[in-house]
Amino acid sequence: MSGLLFSAPEVRTVPVKGEEAAYPVHRVFCVGRNYAAHAAEMGVEVDREAPFYFTKSASAIQPTGTTIAYPPGTGNFHYEMELVIAIGKPVFRAGPEEAAAAIYGYACGLDMTRRDIQLAERARQRPWDLGKDVEQSAVIAAITKAGEFGPVASQRIHLAVNGETKQDAHLSDLIWRVEEIVSHLSGFYHLAPGDLIYTGTPAGVGAVVAGDRIEGGIDGLDPISLTIGEAE
Ligand code: MN
Repeated sequence: MSGLLFSAPEVRTVPVKGEEAAYPVHRVFCVGRNYAAHAAEMGVEVDREAPFYFTKSASAIQPTGTTIAYPPGTGNFHYEMELVIAIGKPVFRAGPEEAAAAIYGYACGLDMTRRDIQLAERARQRPWDLGKDVEQSAVIAAITKAGEFGPVASQRIHLAVNGETKQDAHLSDLIWRVEEIVSHLSGFYHLAPGDLIYTGTPAGVGAVVAGDRIEGGIDGLDPISLTIGEAE
């Protein structure tokens, strides 16, 4: 046997500020309910025992500044503005200090969600995949290296739709801090360079429709934007 039956999937990449080379994406992990006010608006109490996760396919990575088609199978397509962690070193069963050292950088991200499907899946105690692992739903802006960003502290995280502010919080509102997330997740996976972790969204999530323009930002990082196109 030799060769491939068809072309291997294209590796998704993310630009890095100050680097010619791009960051190739391996896996996309997402933290659920990491801001108390967002958990409350979703009608659930925060579980402070441990963070929980869902995943998106790496092929769902979508660059900032693009237009995506309104996805099939939903009538309630939501934005979620998030801080994204980019892993830069192998890390397995690490304490918080080693976990922190494995963080290559940070980026602004959008976890676009079929909210109607997610909530229906949740109510039936089914997996969230159709609600969350949506094509083109892991939107990401350029990565800023951790050393240039500095400590995750009280930076503002915000999002507007058509110029109207919808989400406005601070990274100090994160329930699980970045090194706690990486440390905890490294107890289940051999985390590796190329792994991204979307760290959850603040309160104020909502629906978008065709023609809407989303703009988000986090102090100290490149901003993110996305335009919603017509359904295919
Ligand atoms: Mn999210």
